[in-house]
Amino acid sequence: MITQELLDARSKLEERLQKLTGGAGVFASESDIFAMSCGCIGAISYIQGLQLEDVEVYHDELKNLIEDFSRNLGIFPSVSYAQMKPGKFDLERLQAHDLCDSCKKEYAGCGGKPWPDMILFKMDEGGESAFTDILRFRSGLEELLRVISKRPAYVMQFNIFARICGCVGVTAVVRGIFGDEIQRNAEEIVEHLTRTSEEVGIEPTVVYTTFVHGTEAVAGISAQATCKACRTTYEEYEVIPRPDLDILYFEK
Ligand SMILES: [Zn+2]
Ligand SMILES: [Zn+2]
Repeated sequence: MITQELLDARSKLEERLQKLTGGAGVFASESDIFAMSCGCIGAISYIQGLQLEDVEVYHDELKNLIEDFSRNLGIFPSVSYAQMKPGKFDLERLQAHDLCDSCKKEYAGCGGKPWPDMILFKMDEGGESAFTDILRFRSGLEELLRVISKRPAYVMQFNIFARICGCVGVTAVVRGIFGDEIQRNAEEIVEHLTRTSEEVGIEPTVVYTTFVHGTEAVAGISAQATCKACRTTYEEYEVIPRPDLDILYFEK
């Protein structure tokens, strides 16, 4: 299952990274596979403990690391890069994209630097990705949200994630749908996300939405299988200890 592969790929990448840098304080805190509404798919690893100078020193090795990681998950990148934290000298993530045709055209003329605070590893034609199911997961959820809201709602991005603690899940960045619409159709949304999660090897223990700060607009919908440690924390707090979450399902 892709989620197990993602968990394994995360720890393998972390191991290689620690061996490379000799740094015990270097971690891959989370790894994701994602699909965007334009048709781009990609792979991400969030990194802790590396600075800009490390990225410069290990440029080629980091390129290989993220591209191997991506290819092992069935995503053949046409672009790969290191993304720094905005305005800082800390590395935020390593990322590889299999660009859709329109993004390929758009980025072709921008001198290879389509995003700020990034260090580009490569940009070429890439290959034919093997894992494209995630595009279907994105559009399937979007379709459901449009039926529920009876107007164009959007799933901007759909991710499968695996965290260092062992938590896994799926999460969607959404626009054009509101909390009350989700609540009225909570059962249907939980059912849909549970089915999608099961397809990638995740049995969700919690399903929740997040909001655009200070509004009723939904920012994200997630289904998560919590690891043992996080589960204990959640149970102690009874719900997830964040005030901006709306729980749709919580396995007792
Ligand atoms: Zn695209
Ligand atoms: Zn966890």
